[in-house]
Amino acid sequence: MTKHYKVAIIGSGPAGFTSGIYTSRANYSTAIFEGMQPGGQLMITTDVENFPGFPEGIAGPEMMEVFRKQAHKFGAVSIYETIIKVDFTQKPFVLWSDNEEYTADAVIIATGATARRLRIPSEGDFWGRGISACATCDGFFYRDAKIFVVGGGDTAMEEAMYLTHFGESVTIVHRREGFRASKIMLERAQNHPKIKFITNAVIEEFLGSIKHGQKSLTHIKLKDTRTGEITIHEAGGVFYGIGHEPNTKLFEGMLDMDEHNYLVTAPDSTKTKIHGIFAAGDVQDPVYRQAISAAGSGCMAAIEVDRYLQEL
Ligand code: FAD
Ligand code: NAP
Repeated sequence: MTKHYKVAIIGSGPAGFTSGIYTSRANYSTAIFEGMQPGGQLMITTDVENFPGFPEGIAGPEMMEVFRKQAHKFGAVSIYETIIKVDFTQKPFVLWSDNEEYTADAVIIATGATARRLRIPSEGDFWGRGISACATCDGFFYRDAKIFVVGGGDTAMEEAMYLTHFGESVTIVHRREGFRASKIMLERAQNHPKIKFITNAVIEEFLGSIKHGQKSLTHIKLKDTRTGEITIHEAGGVFYGIGHEPNTKLFEGMLDMDEHNYLVTAPDSTKTKIHGIFAAGDVQDPVYRQAISAAGSGCMAAIEVDRYLQEL
């Protein structure tokens, strides 16, 4: 049987939970679809130091549990399913997970973003057995290894810092000279005795040997982006910190997207081009991509949902 909610929120990161706090507190029955990463991107981070209200910093998973608790307190329900299909052409709107069909009068899309991959041929051979996109989850497995981190943004710096707890050495490989990372994070990494940098380089290939019947990473092949020179480095583990892609495939052809597939919302608003469908957080934000800005736009979406439902 189809289950109906006043508000369906697709996603359970800071944007999803914040909008859920507001819509459930406004007395709208609210379902939060938690998806494949309950809690969102912050589940894979160590310390969040820049979210107001936590002067000592807080672990990402702990923070998301607090968000969830607050949304549940006002009656929002978490549904631990991923939405695989939507129909926004009829009202109420229809959403399908693997198991169920749901309808909702308003939908907030807060599907965030997913870790990007290098997509070079040998990557598949070592994914999860030498290559990871989550230091918090997998760092422990790389004790005393020579670890490499790819990327030049805040994620790469943070991953590298965290991995110094485990690795014999941590080397950041970045494809150009300039860094996207904030000054404070970059300087922390640069000043850390265990962290080295290789700039103007990209990973060309992952190399390994068979260990216990399985491929195991032993080396990486780097290419200098200016000279084309190839060098081979011993590597026990490689962590990606190369950014994220918005999770918008589900909405292709239905909603407007920019050239990088971020959802387009009206200026100073979370409204999409479909009346009753709103988008909040990283899924519509190629610029700020912070927990606080995601939470802020989640709040905006909920207030706009309230106005929309009142109009109805
Ligand atoms: P996300 O957190 O990406 O959550 C998306 C949610 O959507 C997930 O729950 C997922 O399961 C769900 N979902 C996706 N598709 C579907 C579907 N089809 N059906 C159902 N659910 C779906 N920002 C800071 O401000 N401070 C920090 O210290 C900080 N540290 C970070 C560390 C790391 C390693 C990373 C990667 C990011 C960090 N950020 C930090 C950025 C911050 O995590 C993001 O800006 C924020 O999480 C975005 O929130 P969101 O709610 O938009 O989406
Ligand atoms: P990002 O800022 O987009 O940086 C991605 C990095 O990876 C860039 O340096 C980019 O290189 C590189 N890269 C991308 N694709 C690549 C490829 N195919 N091969 C090699 N290198 C590649 O992403 P992010 O670091 O994940 O940060 C995302 C957002 O989260 C940011 O707003 C950031 O501030 C925030 N964040 C904050 C914190 C914190 O405050 N504690 C921690 C983590 C993240 P180029 O620079 O050459 O493009």
